[in-house]
Parts: sequence; structure tokens; C-alpha cells
Amino acid sequence: MLFSIIVPIFNEEETIALFYRAVRGDLFLKQHDVEIVFINDGSSDASEDIVRSIAQEDSLVKLISLSRNFGKEPALFCGLEYSQGDVVIPMDVDLQDPVELIQPMYEMWQKGAKVVLAKRSCRKSDHVLKRLTARWFYKIHNLLSHSKIEDDVGDFRLLDRDVVNVIISLNEKNLFMKGLLSWPGFKTDVVEYVRPERHAGTTKFNGIQLFRLAIEGITNFSTAPLKLASYIGFIVSILSGFYGLVIIAKTIFLGVDVKGYASLMTAMLFLGGIQLIAIGILGEYVGRIYSEVKSRPRYVIESLLGCDEKKPD
Ligand code: UDP
Ligand code: MG
Repeated sequence: MLFSIIVPIFNEEETIALFYRAVRGDLFLKQHDVEIVFINDGSSDASEDIVRSIAQEDSLVKLISLSRNFGKEPALFCGLEYSQGDVVIPMDVDLQDPVELIQPMYEMWQKGAKVVLAKRSCRKSDHVLKRLTARWFYKIHNLLSHSKIEDDVGDFRLLDRDVVNVIISLNEKNLFMKGLLSWPGFKTDVVEYVRPERHAGTTKFNGIQLFRLAIEGITNFSTAPLKLASYIGFIVSILSGFYGLVIIAKTIFLGVDVKGYASLMTAMLFLGGIQLIAIGILGEYVGRIYSEVKSRPRYVIESLLGCDEKKPD
């Protein structure tokens, strides 16, 4: 029985040693084989050296260094591909994902769950705006998408090997891991926890990046926005058809009316706005088709430490 803990790191020199000590010091994990797969996502600080020196002492620590910063999503995917455990647990290095939660997750896995989600029972450690936008995101995503994602669950979860194998067999290059990790389904259980504040260092995600990730999530798992544009177009054209009839009737019975500048302007601007939105939505999808078609690799590996060149089967 092997546990794989997957940890993407991007400029995290302050937290790596603390994280490593928390994992190796955990009483439950001490009784099991636990490999820690660090994915260095193009850090420019001492992160890589720190992991390297840890890996030299501990053969169950692996390091995959990417050639530049590819983002957390590709780094996580890379970790899934190189992990070998019977269960796989993606974790943040900043100790926001408590190590103590692995035991209750494991117990649920033993009872038959193939996926055990760590759900935040409250989001007190986030500021109001983040809480609000997160709630909207989950609502909109789940309204539009066939494969639902659980509210307030991040990437921190326990995945059975069967689930990991499904995920790494997927071909897409635009990654939205929260969606991908949930996509295979399987029997899923939940453990709740309160997410602590980041231990040291600073968050790597600002508002704009989170917004982009949200758009990535919705467009990767739903084509509803595309349909929305055509529904709106349909409704507007029916309404304007009726309005046209009204104008014709008015002209016939009441004569030519040169007034109407305001209504004309309003209709024009309104339709112009809708058209631009529709083109924008199309653009989001066309852009994604473009990058899928180019089929560039999700990430490029610069060096490996403690694991084979070839991805494990
Ligand atoms: N991370 C990464 N690449 C990036 C951004 C972040 O590998 O481009 C890692 C980061 O080092 C951390 C995890 O992803 O281990 C979560 O990042 P962070 O704590 O900044 O996110 P937050 O908890 O604020 O959402
Ligand atoms: Mg964090």
C-alpha cells in the first residue's frame, strides 16, 4: 500500500521544509509508505535546491522540475502522471491542506469510496469578495455543466489509482483540474475541515488569474454559453419581428412618424452589445479549439530526481 502525495511548488522556499516535516512527522503516515512527488513549476527561488537536498536523504521524495512556470494545473497533471501510489493525494505546500485529514480520508477509502473530497466547512480564512465570487462560480458552473463539482472543494482530495488512471488517460491540453478530478465520477465521500491560513509566503493567484481559471472551468465543461448566444438571438429576433409589425401598422394607419430616435438608438446599442458578447463567447471556444489542435505538450520536464524517465504505467 503506497500513498502518493503530489505537491506543485512555485517559489515556496519558506514552506517546503515545514511541509516535509509535517508529512514525515504525521503519526498515521509514519505507519505507511508515502512517496512525496514535488513538481517544481519553474521556481526562481531556492525551492528546487531545498527539495533536492531533502530528496538526497529520503528515497521516497521525488522531484520533477518543469522547464518554466506552466501553472498549477499542468504541474498537478504532471504529478498525477508520475505518481505510483495506490491512492494519490494532491496537496498545497503552504500547509493549507492539513496532513491530519489523510487518516479520515483513508478510512473512507477503506470503506469503499474511490474519491474522498476535503470540503471546507467554512471559508472564514477568505475575504468577502473571494467568498462571494467563489459561491457564484460554483453556482454558474454547476448550472451549466453536466459534470458537477462539489462546492468549496479544492484540489485536495484522495483519489484511488483507478480514478487517477482515468484522469491521466484524458487527452485535453487546456486543463481545469477541479473539473477533471471530478469528471470520472466513482463512489465519492466527503470529509469536512476548516482551511487554515497560508503558513508562510504569499498566494500565487490574484483576482484576474482566478477569473481566468473560472472561465477555463466553465468553457472546458460546458457548451451552454454558446447555446445561450443563439437563444438570446432567437428571442430578440422574434421580439423585433413583432415590433416591426407594430411599426408597419402604425405607418399605414397613422402616417409616417419621424420621431423614434431614442428607441432606434436603444435597439441598435442593445443588439450591438449582444452581438459583441456572442462573438466574445465564440472567441473563447475557438481559442480553446486552436490550442487543443496545436496539441502542444501540457508541460516540459527539465529534470527528474528519484523517478524514471518514462512515466509509470
Ligand atoms: N502553484 C504552482 N504553480 C503556480 C501557482 C501555484 O505550482 O503557477 C502551487 C503553489 O506553490 C502551491 C499551490 O500551487 O503549492 C497553491 O498555490 P497558492 O497557495 O498560492 O493558492 P491559494 O491557496 O492561494 O489558492
Ligand atoms: Mg494556498
